[in-house]
Amino acid sequence: MVSLLLCICLFCPVPMGGAEAPSGETAAEIPYEDVREAYYRYMETYPDTDEEANAVKEKIDEYLDSFYEYVKTYPTSKEEWEAWSALLDDFDLEKWMSYEQLETPTDGFYCFRLPGNVYAICEMLHEQQVFSFLIPGEERALLLDTGLGMLDIREVVDSLTDLPVTVLNSHDHFDHIGGNARFEEVWCYNDPAAIAHLTAGPSETELQEVKNRTKYIRIIMDYMDIRVRDIIPGKAPTGTVEDGQIIDLGGRKLEVIHTPGHQPSCIMLLDRENHLLFTGDMFYPGAMYCLFVDSSLGDYVQSIRKALAIAEENGVEQVYPSHNLPTADLEDLRRFSAFLEQVEAGEISEYEIEDGYPTYYMDDVYSISLAGEGQEPMSGFSGPAWEEPAPEN
Ligand SMILES: [Zn+2]
Repeated sequence: MVSLLLCICLFCPVPMGGAEAPSGETAAEIPYEDVREAYYRYMETYPDTDEEANAVKEKIDEYLDSFYEYVKTYPTSKEEWEAWSALLDDFDLEKWMSYEQLETPTDGFYCFRLPGNVYAICEMLHEQQVFSFLIPGEERALLLDTGLGMLDIREVVDSLTDLPVTVLNSHDHFDHIGGNARFEEVWCYNDPAAIAHLTAGPSETELQEVKNRTKYIRIIMDYMDIRVRDIIPGKAPTGTVEDGQIIDLGGRKLEVIHTPGHQPSCIMLLDRENHLLFTGDMFYPGAMYCLFVDSSLGDYVQSIRKALAIAEENGVEQVYPSHNLPTADLEDLRRFSAFLEQVEAGEISEYEIEDGYPTYYMDDVYSISLAGEGQEPMSGFSGPAWEEPAPEN
């Protein structure tokens, strides 16, 4: 996860009604009809009677009218991108615009083509700015994570490859597993809590997070109290991976590196041939978290040290992280590794309290929040196994 977990929405409330309907040139650039259609589809199974369904549709129309003011920041020009990016924290517009952007068949997603035959897919207007990576081989493709799951990432993936797709989750937090049920093959690290979590689907706490952080439809969902769980069901993993396992995609091999710390099921992926390291939530440009009931600073430090060593041995220069931006320099991972060791050793005395958690800043981009200072670790973001009281020794 990224951004401040407990913060209040960055956006001002959208005026309810009274906003002008889309018109003229601007309207043509807004996926207004598609947004509405997508949510009709989601809702098809929700209302029990025609009357209810019609009431739902009327409310959606009503809210989309006011919602228009909101989505008109959908960026199509540099100016609009600038206006839009101003709504997000830590948004590196220049960097973002430097990526090769591809059209997607589904509104609400960005897709970038990255060096090394990798696609980065991101649900826009969502605070988390979480990236899923499609990594094609010759015989099959691997999809590292499925995002929030509010919109249909499967459509985007199908537009990019005809190969059979295996999903592998970088870990089991809600912002990486939301679209799992849209795929047949879903793998995760072989961790009982992760398997239980994926099978059960997001917890109530997580569903609330999904809802609160999905700008695209939030006002509709808040008003309608739509059951997010219907959109993001659980999906029992069909396979598991272990540390050191090689995943052969045909003409392309990926190596699993178990990197616990943020969560016990965290993995990174190494593409030796293409000198790429996918770092998941263990490393990305932004606020990182080691504050959950199942986080471990000791593991975090070791995992980053191990990943850095592997990256250096394999000539990796760019890493592909899961939040904020789809690329980062190895040099920043190197600095972060050293910084984290200092934090663990108690050598960094300066920190700020963010949402109650001590947060150590490496610079104005990279930081890490820990549990401690009288603040209980955060719960509700892991599998059912973690929601049970710990057994007495
Ligand atoms: Zn995340």
